[in-house]
Amino acid sequence: MVVEQLANYINGAFQPSHASDFLDVRNPATAETLVRVPVTPRAEVDAAAQAALAAWDGWRRTPALERIQYLFKLKNLLEEHYKDIARIITQECGKTLAEAEAEMRRGIENVEVACGIPMLIQGYNNEDIASGIDEHMFRQPVGVVAAITPFNFPGMIPLWFMPYAVACGNCFILKPSEKVPLTSARLAALIDQAGFPKGVFQVVNGAKETVDAILDHPAIRAVSFVGSTAVARYVYSRATANGKRAQCQGGAKNPVIVLPDADMDMTTKIVADASFGCAGQRCLASSIAITVGEARDMFRESIADAAASRTVGYGLDPSVEMGPVITHESRQRIEMLIGKGASEGANVLVDGRTPAIAGYEQGFFVRPTILDNVDPSSEIAKTEIFGPVLSLMHVETIDDAIALVNSGSYGNMACVFTNSGPAARKFRYEARAGNIGINVGVAAPMAFFPFSGWKESFFGDLHAQGRHGVEFYTETKVVVERWPKEWSRKF
Ligand code: NAD
Repeated sequence: MVVEQLANYINGAFQPSHASDFLDVRNPATAETLVRVPVTPRAEVDAAAQAALAAWDGWRRTPALERIQYLFKLKNLLEEHYKDIARIITQECGKTLAEAEAEMRRGIENVEVACGIPMLIQGYNNEDIASGIDEHMFRQPVGVVAAITPFNFPGMIPLWFMPYAVACGNCFILKPSEKVPLTSARLAALIDQAGFPKGVFQVVNGAKETVDAILDHPAIRAVSFVGSTAVARYVYSRATANGKRAQCQGGAKNPVIVLPDADMDMTTKIVADASFGCAGQRCLASSIAITVGEARDMFRESIADAAASRTVGYGLDPSVEMGPVITHESRQRIEMLIGKGASEGANVLVDGRTPAIAGYEQGFFVRPTILDNVDPSSEIAKTEIFGPVLSLMHVETIDDAIALVNSGSYGNMACVFTNSGPAARKFRYEARAGNIGINVGVAAPMAFFPFSGWKESFFGDLHAQGRHGVEFYTETKVVVERWPKEWSRKF
């Protein structure tokens, strides 16, 4: 079978790349090669940046009300096609169709919010800062901007950035994950169909070499990144050293506290979804459950049952609750980390290693796994596993639980399950993480709130989505204005 080579989308057209290096994109459930993706070289990144720069002046002068008409068209096309896009997501990323559709809904929300740009981009002003002198603040687009995105939300994460960037009058270059490039190719086809002017939106595929070309390109003024912490730190330092704005979202190790007064059935169901949904490959996956006092035995038993009974298989099958992890290497790494946890003294309460999934023997599956009695000082307690593995820890007081939450190096999300208002309030106030869930397992901010990672989960100042997105993609211009009375003509 001939495997197709994926094209880039540059200057309003799909263009084959002249890359010397192409990577296989595989369906993680079947290991079948879906397409080959180019590692776009510098010269072609330059072509995309030059096309974006050429388009920028016309685009920034296009009134915001006109710019958002393209987004309204895109929103309609996304509504029409989001189920087909979800299928592509399941095929290249592995999550279930229901998870892929939910992801697209969250992506579409961002298009809707960005359609409010005529108001969101407004500045502010004062008359008479001194007698007869007025001062205004305007927001102007920064120019050509780029986003580098991870494999785990191929549809939603590009839409955390693109709608705000273009609505604010910037031209945008997307470098999707080389593991899941087909979703972005479909998005580019819809953007093309929506009639966006040439150069306003472009896709360059690739990996490190392509990212470095973006980070070094003098015409690219701002970079948004989502991925692992090591790469987020690297992208942030190289982009900012080159004088660019950068917002870089990194990895996570999200704790949930279960207090003894929590509704155990609801808590178990929610924590199981948060830990094993998307095969644990969510930056908001819960990966540590800290039980307090009597919650220990009740929760351990119920979460073990939930883990063991989860249906695992190919995400296109509607009865399946959890798909594979992204690659063979990822599966090996997760299994190695489970082994490491055991060697560090944890008890493997539910062991998901080397499962047999009938009909998908070549797929990259790991079943839900529970590690009990994980030592907070062990390596497994600190490492982002990014797979369907939940570690259990136990303490006697809520203060100890919060101290454990705050001892982690990441700060993407922390959650509490309780019936007590004061306990929830104390947690909300004291927990050192940027996204907080109270009786909620995946506290993903809606499009009109910032996606607020802290600590090692974020490098930068302004987060993705909503008003933060608008601030990131605009520069403030302040005008101080005087019109002396004596210059007045008599009318
Ligand atoms: P990754 O860091 O491997 O890749 C992310 C992007 O960086 C990809 O586009 C990739 O091509 C590029 N890249 C990879 N290595 C690079 C290098 N050495 N130099 C330059 N560019 C490089 O991440 P991933 O495996 O695709 O995604 C999973 C990670 O993303 C997890 O750590 C997860 O927690 C994180 N994530 C974070 C958030 C968040 O909002 N904080 C959201 C989703 C995923």
